[in-house]
Amino acid sequence: MSKLIAYFGGSFDPIHQGHLATARELVDVFALAKLVFLPTALSPLKQQSLASLHRVAMLKLAIQDDSVFAIDEQELHRPQPSYTIDTLRCLRTQYGTQQSLALIMGMDSFLSLPKWRDWQQLTDFAHLIVVSRPDYDAQFRTELQAWLNNRRCNDRLLLEYQTHGLVYFVATQPHAVSSTDIRARLALGQNTSATLPPRVAAYIQLHHLYGATATNES
Ligand code: ATP
Repeated sequence: MSKLIAYFGGSFDPIHQGHLATARELVDVFALAKLVFLPTALSPLKQQSLASLHRVAMLKLAIQDDSVFAIDEQELHRPQPSYTIDTLRCLRTQYGTQQSLALIMGMDSFLSLPKWRDWQQLTDFAHLIVVSRPDYDAQFRTELQAWLNNRRCNDRLLLEYQTHGLVYFVATQPHAVSSTDIRARLALGQNTSATLPPRVAAYIQLHHLYGATATNES
């Protein structure tokens, strides 16, 4: 079992099969003992978000059968705006200097990194694990590429032996699903059953989230 602990940040608005399948794949690839979902507060880069209460409730329903998964709600309780760099700093304080930590993100998030607060310092606290996302290619702008050159790592075992500082890309199975698309489909009364965990679909119906009506069967 790996000593690495990985955190998967996101709005999870709602959590979908793309998140879950990717998380499961990473548990296998890295032999992770623990993968923690880290729901973000209203992202400073995103317009729309549902009440944290519902997003966390759906996350709990989605992971309840997998003991390797956990949830850390710290970002939701922090004064806003909340930035990933602050969370990683807190995690490093919490775990101390000896624990290997990684932050998981999709290629779309990685490409937007230069818009993040103090992005160049993220690897001072944790590794980054970047997963594939359909329609987002590994074409980096100069600034991001230059930063990456000193950090890119092709040996996944190094993420265990070093505590932070590396960026590792995993060619995960493609899952062409996004929360944005799911919200749009729900609002139009279209079927979303292939893209949502069944318990999450049922929760959305029960609470009439995202404009879902009884016609969206799960
Ligand atoms: P939205 O459509 O609202 O932007 P999203 O589907 O991208 O949402 P997020 O909760 O914002 O979901 O994503 C959290 C993290 O998971 C991000 O780093 C994102 O890149 C990654 N991710 C989301 N969907 C997928 C997917 N289908 N495959 C791989 N990674 C994904």
